[in-house]
Amino acid sequence: MERIYKLLLFALLLVPALAAAQERPANYAKALRFKALIYYSEHAEEAHVQFSRQGVEFFKKLTVGEGFFVDVTTSLVGYTYDKLKEYTCIIMLDDSPHGPAERAAFEQYMENGGGWVGFHASGYNDRNTQWPWFSQFLGCGVFKCNNWPPQQALAEVDMASHPVTRNLPGSFVLPASEFYQWEEDLRSKENIQVLLSLSQKNYPIGLKDIVYGGDWPVVWTNRNYRMIYLNMGHGDECFSEATQNLMFVNAFRWIVSRDPAGNPFDK
Ligand code: ZN
Repeated sequence: MERIYKLLLFALLLVPALAAAQERPANYAKALRFKALIYYSEHAEEAHVQFSRQGVEFFKKLTVGEGFFVDVTTSLVGYTYDKLKEYTCIIMLDDSPHGPAERAAFEQYMENGGGWVGFHASGYNDRNTQWPWFSQFLGCGVFKCNNWPPQQALAEVDMASHPVTRNLPGSFVLPASEFYQWEEDLRSKENIQVLLSLSQKNYPIGLKDIVYGGDWPVVWTNRNYRMIYLNMGHGDECFSEATQNLMFVNAFRWIVSRDPAGNPFDK
């Protein structure tokens, strides 16, 4: 009799537990929420390829549990607008589009609500790049100078209320990277929101190529587009630090969440 009673009790406890397991809370993904595309070039300089391969692993790891799907490509040839628009977000790790067809497809994608998370050399452009649209898209104009060798630097948050920065400390040390300064003043532009800069306390920075001063934004967004640019991304140390990694996830999540077709995380 006691055994039957125990079995009954067990069954009574088990039924609600099973029901709860089947009815997951609404914030659990029932299917893949969105697709992202990662582009990097294998023909970039070695330290950029190194960063890119680690970047692929970093973002792929975030797909565990199948919240989203990632495609990885090392060439944008054949990525027409129709193909690009399947992706909620494109992550460019060390390169930007080169050919006229690839550039036109990317422009159309961004002008029609596409999402972009760009790192380091994906924003590199100089007087030979000959792509005025890209320069205004970034807002920073052409490359001016960089510190060398890659090294750690103290960064300061410019806008602490932004979704990309609000859970970060006001200042923190970035892992070793090469950082770029640019010709144009980002802060003078109404459509640009600077989120993170290198601290003035870093100066002089560099041992071979030394930068002595200047405003140095490293993470910003152009409000005319669903984009964010993060300047770090040189070498094999960029994914080694929790605070910066958290910012990378924040940046990716923020871009994805603003998909004009609806926030995939609300699905
Ligand atoms: Zn670099």
